Amino acid sequence: SAIFDYTRVRADFPILSTEIRGKPLTYLDNGATSQKPAAVIEAIDRYYRAENSNIHRGVHYLSEKATDAYESARAKVAHFIGVADADEVIFVRGATEGINLVAHGFIETQLSEGDEILITHMEHHANIVPWQLAAEKTGAVLKVVPVNEAGELDVNAFSELLSERTKLVALVHVSNALGSINPAKALVAEAHKHDIPVLLDGCQSVPHMPVDVADLGCDFFVFSGHKVFGPTGIGVLWGKRQWLDQFPPYQSGGDMIERVDFDGTTFKGIPGKFEAGTPHIEGVIGLAAAIDYVNQLDRQGALAHEHALLVDATEKLSAIDGLRIIGTAQQKASILSFVMNEIHPHDIGTFLDADGVAVRAGHHCTQPLLKRFGVPATARASFAFYNNFEDVDRLVTAVTKMQRFFG
Ligand code: PMP
Repeated sequence: SAIFDYTRVRADFPILSTEIRGKPLTYLDNGATSQKPAAVIEAIDRYYRAENSNIHRGVHYLSEKATDAYESARAKVAHFIGVADADEVIFVRGATEGINLVAHGFIETQLSEGDEILITHMEHHANIVPWQLAAEKTGAVLKVVPVNEAGELDVNAFSELLSERTKLVALVHVSNALGSINPAKALVAEAHKHDIPVLLDGCQSVPHMPVDVADLGCDFFVFSGHKVFGPTGIGVLWGKRQWLDQFPPYQSGGDMIERVDFDGTTFKGIPGKFEAGTPHIEGVIGLAAAIDYVNQLDRQGALAHEHALLVDATEKLSAIDGLRIIGTAQQKASILSFVMNEIHPHDIGTFLDADGVAVRAGHHCTQPLLKRFGVPATARASFAFYNNFEDVDRLVTAVTKMQRFFG
C-alpha cells in the first residue's frame, strides 16, 4: 500500500502552521489533547451559523435538523467503535464522566462489602479514584495488577487476582503515561471465563488505532472526543444494554423522563435515561465531524507512520547522555516518557517550549505508576499521525541543546 501522506494531512490542521514564540509549532502533546482539523472547526461554525436549535422537544425545522444531526452522530460513533446497537452509546462530558457513570451504577446495583474491583498499576487517575470512592462507599476492595520494569502488565498476576469476589475489571487499553498497549482482548477473555465484566479506558487507543469493541469483547468502553481530533466537553460511554438497563439514572431532570408526576416519575430507556438536560449538541456535531475525518484516513498507514516516528524518537533520545526512557513495552503506541539526570521534567518542558516544542511535564494523572518507577514526574512527547520526522528532530535538537546547557 502507498506510504501514508503525512504532509497532506498536516495541512488539514490550521494550528500546525502557526508559530510559537517565533518558532514553528512542534506539537508533541497529543496525549493530553489532539489538534482539530478544519473540518471539525467548520462543522461547529456551520452548526451555530445555520442549524443551532435545541434537540428532541421541538417540532420546528431547525430542532428536527439538530435532533437528526445529534442522533445520527450516535449511530456514527456506534459504527466507529464496532457497536451494533446505537442506543448503547451514551454521550458524556468525557472519559472521566463515563467512568463515573459506570461507577455510580456499580455502587447502586452491584457492589457490597468484601467485593473486589480489579484495576491496574498503570491506570489514569480517572480510572482509579472513582473506584476508590466506590470501594469506600460500599465496603468493596480495590485490587491492583502490577506492572513490570518495561511498563507491561503482569498478565499472570492479572489472572491470579481474579477471584470469586471480583465484580469488575477496569483497565486502560493504552497507557497515557508510558504508551504500553495492553493485550485487552486476551485479558477480557480471561475475565469472562469467570463471568467478570470489563471496562476498557480507550482514551489513548482510539486516537492511534482502529478499535472494535465487539472484537475486544469488553462490556464497557470510554473515550474522550478531544483526544480524537474532536472538541472538548464531549465523550462517549458505550456499555452493553444488559448492564446499562440495570443502572439507575446518573443525573436527572429534563429529557431523560417518560412521565413526571408529583406521585413519581418514569424514565426513558437508554440512551435517554443517562442524558439529562440539554446535551453538548455542538460537541456531538464536532465529534461526528472528527469521526468522518478519521474514517477517511488510511488508518493502517497512519499507525505505521506513528510507529516510525516513535522508533526514530526512541533511537535518537536514547543516544543522549543521562536520558532515561520510562516505558519500554514490546507493544507501544507513539507515546514517549523520559527523565534526565539532574534536570527536573518541568524544566525540560519549559526549555523545550522556548524552541516551540510542546511536550507535557508532570505526573500525567498517573501518580501511582510514576511512583512505581521511582520518579515524581516525566517529560512526555506524544505523537499523532500529523507529526513528521522534522518534529522528532526538533525535539531531539532541543533536548540535546538543553543537556549541553545544564551539563
Ligand atoms: N484515561 C486516560 C488513559 C487518559 O489519557 C485520560 C486523559 N488524559 C483520561 C482517562 C481522562 O480523560 P478526560 O480528562 O478527557 O475525561
